[in-house]
Amino acid sequence: MALPKVYNWQLGREMDYRFANGPAKRQFAAVFNTNRCIACQTCTMACKSTWTFSPGQELMWWNNVETKPYGGYPHNWDVNVLELQEKANPGGQAWNVAKKDPKNAPYGTFDGKTIFETADGLTNMVTGYLPPEEDWKAPNIHEDTATLHSKTGVSLPEHAGWFFYLQRICNHCSYPACLAACPRNAIYKRPDDGIVLIDESRCRGYRKCVEACPYKKPMYRPSTRTSEKCIGCYPRVEGTDPLTKGLPMETRCMTACIGKIRLQGLVSVDANGQWFEDRQNPLYYLVQVAKVALPLYPQFGTQPNVYYIPPRWAPRDYLRQMFGPGVDDAIAAYTNPSRETLGVLQLFRATQKIIFSYKIQPGPKTGEINVAGKVRELFNDTVIGFDSNGNEIVRVTVDEPLIERPAQITMNTI
Ligand code: SF4
Ligand code: SF4
Repeated sequence: MALPKVYNWQLGREMDYRFANGPAKRQFAAVFNTNRCIACQTCTMACKSTWTFSPGQELMWWNNVETKPYGGYPHNWDVNVLELQEKANPGGQAWNVAKKDPKNAPYGTFDGKTIFETADGLTNMVTGYLPPEEDWKAPNIHEDTATLHSKTGVSLPEHAGWFFYLQRICNHCSYPACLAACPRNAIYKRPDDGIVLIDESRCRGYRKCVEACPYKKPMYRPSTRTSEKCIGCYPRVEGTDPLTKGLPMETRCMTACIGKIRLQGLVSVDANGQWFEDRQNPLYYLVQVAKVALPLYPQFGTQPNVYYIPPRWAPRDYLRQMFGPGVDDAIAAYTNPSRETLGVLQLFRATQKIIFSYKIQPGPKTGEINVAGKVRELFNDTVIGFDSNGNEIVRVTVDEPLIERPAQITMNTI
């Protein structure tokens, strides 16, 4: 059966997908900076204490932070999917970086097959697997386990002994595998924000979504015999949380982040699934202009909407497999950031409201540093974030202000 064709800009080409009714008009998206995460799991607990604290949800972690390369929730999820794909298309899962095009193929083209294209489209819509129950039981297995213990191998660009933290939520994919696989049509993507939801009243617990999602983000709840997944904290994104008085608000996991590694927002997309040019949207800037943040396993083909600034110290081959061929440019852009990139990075966790645009006011030169043998000037610029109505909601400087207390403190500070 011939499936409809859709455009996947992350792969730089069209691909087969079960539904051709087009992506959402506005899309939930986020950037996670792996370089800053301290694996405190505050995000994990913020999510769990809000959405998955009830009977039957004991093994359910919609947000999890795992230690790569050995950790995974469920265990080995990514290695298992990569192996299935390799088996279906031996030696063919490769990128062609010569076909790079700034708008239509920013990372080149993926010449291999997606999880939709290795399926037969008849008996199964997506290549996947159902993890056994024991794979869900240790959400933080191999925490902080490095590849080797080395006293000498800890200098950039690649550490000899390494690990890093990978923060994971549902990617609210533009072409969701969970949605394509559901025989009950119980999964839908909201046109106004691209959030992917399971209609619990339609779900019969066949677990086809659990099997199909390459990121393993739908989870089965035995007490209700239905599958559940991250709901993108949609009441907050809709602006119905009283705290923001009607303004769109970031999710629980984003706003709780101690390491200030997360920035979430909404981007406008066209009928082709490509982002409308919106130069002053911080997510648009980081993903499409600075190209400092990359999708997770884009080769799976779901066009995921969480983007990662890759860890600077990890082996490039490993990172290219995980984030695609844009890794070297992204690390270069992060290691020696432009004045604008450095400014936009200050917006992470500066406010709980969703920032729709930003402006940078140039500040004075504050010093010089040496980065990779090159002298770099530093400026204390001011970055201003605006809400959906264009009103200022946050103002931060590149230099964190140092506030000295007066010598005589009158109140009792213990
Ligand atoms: S990450 Fe998985 S569960 Fe989430 S939208 Fe994509 S395919 Fe569906
Ligand atoms: S709260 Fe932030 S820093 Fe802590 S584990 Fe989660 S993503 Fe990492």
